[in-house]
Parts: sequence; structure tokens; C-alpha cells
Amino acid sequence: MGENRASADGDRRIGRRALIVGGIAAATGTAVLARDELARLWWRMPGVEKPREQGVVDYAGARWVAASDANWRRADRPDDYHVDMVIVHVTQGSFDSAVQAFQDPGHKAAAHYIVGQDGRVTQMIRELDVAYHAGNRDYNERSIGIEHAGFVDRPEDFTDEMYEASARLTARICARYDLPVDRKHILGHVEVPGTDHTDPGPHWDWDRYLKLVRRARTAPTPTPSTSPSSTAG
Ligand SMILES: [Zn+2]
Repeated sequence: MGENRASADGDRRIGRRALIVGGIAAATGTAVLARDELARLWWRMPGVEKPREQGVVDYAGARWVAASDANWRRADRPDDYHVDMVIVHVTQGSFDSAVQAFQDPGHKAAAHYIVGQDGRVTQMIRELDVAYHAGNRDYNERSIGIEHAGFVDRPEDFTDEMYEASARLTARICARYDLPVDRKHILGHVEVPGTDHTDPGPHWDWDRYLKLVRRARTAPTPTPSTSPSSTAG
């Protein structure tokens, strides 16, 4: 589960925006941009005006349910922050209670995805945005968070359907961000520096999970759907 430390995930985007402005100026091939041109570019920075279509998901197998915007921060990954990790969580509750918690602005935490014991996948935060799930600002900015419905001390909660659905999701994330399928890039919340969380716990079968992700990663890329609720896979 995520943290209750949203304030720790403060806004430090200004510096990065300034760098991006510099990059755009360089890319135009213009040595000097007029001050008003720079100002206009500033407000066209990634994450500021990028159009977002309601209900669009980043993974073709996911259903969209919006999290409260108190539980994430607007960004434009991977252009502003490099995504190089998938962080595995366990909700310590039911699928529905996790969805409700992430919709609650008072919860101050949420992950991008929740995977159910029946293999269903719900996306609640776009991957381009920073979800408050790891309890560590740097890790939040660099990662995609996936929750799994259940309890760390109940191995029976981690069903075949859950492992397989989650592995397919993680495989697509690794493909899109060009991440190696290994434990350096796919880690548990417990491994995040500074966390006091123990999920996914000792019953989460990492060897099995990594094998499933590798298998899904090398499987043929699914045909992109033309449905408006599935822009990517
Ligand atoms: Zn967690």
C-alpha cells in the first residue's frame, strides 16, 4: 500500500522545466529565443497543457477508474522523469477497498494499477503522472506502482490469475520503457529506501513472477486496439 506522506512528494518541477525549456531552445536550432517566446514555451511545457482524454488507459487490458487527484501529481513522464522501475505492492485489503481508498482525497496515496485475484486490472492514475505509492519521492517519480488485492500473510490471495495478469501488465510496461526484466527494475515496496512497508511480503513468489513477466515480454505484441479506452498495450 502507499504512504501517507504526500507532502514529502513536494513540487520540484521548476528546475526540470527550466532544463526542458533549454532543450527546446536548443532543438529549434535558434541561438537565442525572445523572452516572450520562452514564456510561451514555459506554459506549453509537458504536463501543463497536454490534452488528456477521460477514460484513456496506458494498458489495453485495464479498466479506468480515476483516483482522487490528491493522491498523485501531474507530470509528463517519461519526458520529465525517466521511468525505470515497477514497484509491486499488496493492498492489505480487498480490491474494492483499494479502489475506494485511492478515490479518497484524504488517503494521500495511490498506485497506478490494481490487480485483482480474478486477474482484473484497473488503472487509476496515468503512467505519465507521479503516483504517491512508494513513500519516497525519487522512487515515486521513477516508477509505476502496481497494487495486488490481498494480504501479505495470506499466500492463497496470490492466485494464478493474479500472477499472470500482473506479469502481462509488467511485461508491457518493461517493453514500453525498455526496462530489463530483473529484480533491479521490478522490485517490492519493501525494498524502497526509507519505507516501513513490508509488501509484497515473503509469500510473493518472485521467481515465478519474473518467469511469467519474461514469458509475456517475449510473447508477440498484442494488436493495438482501436477502442478509445485502450491507447496502448
Ligand atoms: Zn505498498
